[in-house]
Amino acid sequence: MYPLHVVPSSENSKVGPCATTYRPVGDSAKGEGTCPSCCPHLNAGCYTYKGKTRLWATRSANTFNSMSKVVSKAMRFIRFLTAGDWMKHDPDSDTGYSVDLEHANDAVMVCRANPWATAWSYCHDIKQWVKDTGLFPAAGNMPKNFHLLASCEDQAMKDFAIAHGFKTARVITSESERAEDEIFCPYDRALHHGKTNREIKVRCVTCQLCWKAPEGKNIAFLKH
Ligand code: SF4
Ligand code: SF4
Repeated sequence: MYPLHVVPSSENSKVGPCATTYRPVGDSAKGEGTCPSCCPHLNAGCYTYKGKTRLWATRSANTFNSMSKVVSKAMRFIRFLTAGDWMKHDPDSDTGYSVDLEHANDAVMVCRANPWATAWSYCHDIKQWVKDTGLFPAAGNMPKNFHLLASCEDQAMKDFAIAHGFKTARVITSESERAEDEIFCPYDRALHHGKTNREIKVRCVTCQLCWKAPEGKNIAFLKH
């Protein structure tokens, strides 16, 4: 059993109609949450510190929903870990954390059992993910409907992720920082330019760039 808050029918303004999951945000190496210590947004402006996402993330520390709650005939999309990451405290690991395999295996099983659903998520330490799960797109052993993007803040992590077949994502603060292989997330770009949630029409479930961007293209999130 592990902390997990599931909202089977989310109204999250960015993702659109979608099942969403939440886990505690905090440094897993210190036993404070599920995030890898290397994430630069930890205690430094992570998007999960605001609004309902924060509420669900906080509530998730004392909630133990079954992963199967994400599956509903009406919901074709699952956004795993709208808050939190895939890690848990592990004093035997060099990093002080490792992938919470029980949680990751449940996510993989849900995807395999429900091929009609499309699931996506992000991981801020894709090296740890590969080391602990052995799952990566280039090996052909990830479920086809489970799209895990590697959140990469440095080139070494990005090179590793691409070599293992992952798409990458990162947060940038201005348009000029975008690399040639990156496409802007249209939702974040609109917010960056001052639009409100209400004015922005695109949602993840209609955009789908995080899993359908052309081969060789990765995602840049403009800070807002
Ligand atoms: S971006 Fe993800 S891994 Fe980083 S602090 Fe926020 S929830 Fe945790
Ligand atoms: S690029 Fe599209 S799918 Fe990805 S986070 Fe942005 S709106 Fe959602």
